[in-house]
Amino acid sequence: MIYIRKRRTPAEIEEKAEKIKKTPGSTYEKLSLPEDTNQLRTLFDQMPKDEIRENLYKEQHGLCAYCMRRITDQRSDTKIEHYKALSTNKETALDYQNYLGVCYGGEKEKFEKTDEENHKNTGCMCCDASRGEQELTINPWNRRQMEAIGYYKKSGEIFVRSNVGLGTELVNAMQKDIDDVLHLNGEKDLDGKIKWDTRSKLVASRRSVCDSVCSQFDRWGNKGVLTADFLQDKIDKLESQLQGNNIADEYIGVRLYLYKRKAEKLRKQR
Ligand SMILES: [Zn+2]
Repeated sequence: MIYIRKRRTPAEIEEKAEKIKKTPGSTYEKLSLPEDTNQLRTLFDQMPKDEIRENLYKEQHGLCAYCMRRITDQRSDTKIEHYKALSTNKETALDYQNYLGVCYGGEKEKFEKTDEENHKNTGCMCCDASRGEQELTINPWNRRQMEAIGYYKKSGEIFVRSNVGLGTELVNAMQKDIDDVLHLNGEKDLDGKIKWDTRSKLVASRRSVCDSVCSQFDRWGNKGVLTADFLQDKIDKLESQLQGNNIADEYIGVRLYLYKRKAEKLRKQR
């Protein structure tokens, strides 16, 4: 997960939301949750979704807000997620400020029938497909939270760092969202070890980024160029992918995290 800088609601989207609310017979004012969830969803379906998706795609640099897999501005690749669930939050149901662009979380991956029967070969759903309507503590618009996200180099597992001042309660709540609600680490056994990956192969994909970074470090180390300044230059280049409307590499947060930790270490050694 990486920090997402939420942009201002585009005027056309805001106007459309107001129009939907005020249209005579829209019943928005009278809706009460959770019993009128379906009616509220019908109003949400009148929102200009292509435009919303295009704006989310740009502000998130082409990455799923939860897992950093590729999303696009197309409906077939990207869902519009209500950060505050629609079934419990009427005020934010038609509000662009409550929207995230997310992947299909494995709903579209195709498997052999025999694999389906052997659940363990196909893995679990992730992101919105796994979350459903559950409330979240972890929040990609919260910079402090996102700066506390880390990755284990060997396993590719995503975790919340406990030593960056967030407090135990928050760290635990965020980790629970990662593991049990969004399933970004696949399925874990009772000892907390990863039993199998997600359908979307998140753990394996992050691990392959980790492997690629480790061999880069070896290569740069052997050439004698691996210094904090050298890495800072690489970090700046990666971070420029997260500027303007640029589209970033999938799982960019993993590489950035490993570069930053290594640069810190090298600085301390100096
Ligand atoms: Zn995702």
